[in-house]
Amino acid sequence: MLTVSNLEVCYGAISALGGISLEVGAGSIVTLIGGNGAGKTTTLRTISGLIRAKQGTVTFRGEDISRLPAHEIVARGLSHVPEGRMVFSNLTVEENLSMGAYLLRDRDVIAKNRDYVFSIFPRLKERLKQTAGTLSGGEQQMLAIGRALMGNPKFLMLDEPSLGIAPRLIGTIFEKIVEINQTQGITILLVEQNANLALEVSSSAYVLESGHVVMSGESKKLRADPQLKATYLGG
Ligand code: ATP
Repeated sequence: MLTVSNLEVCYGAISALGGISLEVGAGSIVTLIGGNGAGKTTTLRTISGLIRAKQGTVTFRGEDISRLPAHEIVARGLSHVPEGRMVFSNLTVEENLSMGAYLLRDRDVIAKNRDYVFSIFPRLKERLKQTAGTLSGGEQQMLAIGRALMGNPKFLMLDEPSLGIAPRLIGTIFEKIVEINQTQGITILLVEQNANLALEVSSSAYVLESGHVVMSGESKKLRADPQLKATYLGG
């Protein structure tokens, strides 16, 4: 569904991605793991059209989207839940969700998407009139995912959904991510520092280091890899 070929990205003179390639098959959950500064966020932002690559291509459902502006990429069904959630703090939960449906015109589809978001995150329904900035970290993450789902995505990119969330809510968020994938058939590209969790829910994984893919394969196999265990899985 998504093919990234030889992507190179620089911030000024600094190289952030040195030619990475990866594939995400339709219906799968694929994860990118790696330490701080490995290039995970840069990869997602480049796929979304928020950063321009110096070299390389991004192909989504057979179309080269590398030169498209971000809003046209979203319109094709590729949604990004950014690191730090980036909800609109001064807007209510309801208004944040409406923003996610910005590109949709069909009211029935919007209502159906809202019902689905409330079915997986009932807490959002209880807090419709609350301003997003006053939600807990976990609730803001639910809202950020809900907002992305409002736009009817075929492909969802999630950047560090466990970051800054109370440990008891992390499991819930990950269960919902798997549920969204399994029941809606939405393909997921997940960036996560918590490699144990990421490898548990994904079918395949790429390990990034200093802007390069240094290891990739089935998540099950990577979990058993001694080198990966020592570096990323706490032994
Ligand atoms: P983290 O898990 O810490 O968010 P990451 O794997 O997502 O890390 P990136 O945020 O993609 O890594 O960063 C990759 C490299 O690019 C790092 O060396 C980082 O310092 C650099 N970088 C990221 N954003 C910028 C920017 N706006 N300007 C300059 N350098 C940047």
